[in-house]
Amino acid sequence: MYTCADCAGKPCRNHDLEQLPGNCPTAEHCEEENLALYSEEEKRMAYLSARVEGDLYCRITRVEEIMEYALRMGYTHLGVAFCVGLSEEAKTFVRILRANHFTVDSVCCKNGSVPKSLLGITREQQAYPERETEPMCNPAAQAELLEKAGCQLPVILGLCVGHDTLFIRHCSIPCTVLAVKDRVLAHNPMGALYMADSYMKDRLFTYVDRRREK
Ligand code: SF4
Repeated sequence: MYTCADCAGKPCRNHDLEQLPGNCPTAEHCEEENLALYSEEEKRMAYLSARVEGDLYCRITRVEEIMEYALRMGYTHLGVAFCVGLSEEAKTFVRILRANHFTVDSVCCKNGSVPKSLLGITREQQAYPERETEPMCNPAAQAELLEKAGCQLPVILGLCVGHDTLFIRHCSIPCTVLAVKDRVLAHNPMGALYMADSYMKDRLFTYVDRRREK
């Protein structure tokens, strides 16, 4: 079992190889074996990611980092795979990218407008049961369409848990994430972690047990 999250000193961070704990994954591969995990193109991606990090550390937002990474990679055509619930945010993001001279394709999660009933979802199980038909999110087609349009870097904007999983699985080109969906915390899921030992303690640490009791 790997327990990096519980490792107190994180000596790997300082290349302090004398202090590695017993079950440290650093022992699994030598440096050459780690590098062999990356293709030449992936090494270039890793190099340029590190350059963006180092050159602009704490000085630019993630929106700007996405543009900076794209520029350094030579990407001129970006994609936005967005959730319909973040349509305004998608519009703004696309506006920013276009103002910065990127070509942008955007595909909404509800593309295809395929009724959820075809997945076996009943009307009562819909997010909005009052609606006669609720279309399913369609991340597989989002990925396919953005790739077909020639996007070099699709960006995920607010896809649901599971739908983002499917998007990533179906996207055969490298993609990145601007934001993830959290309907309760204004799409800032880290808020739950920042409050995990205070206001949200009971709620978060007993979630599965409480669910079992229902
Ligand atoms: S890789 Fe090793 S040293 Fe680094 S956090 Fe994990 S257990 Fe700790």
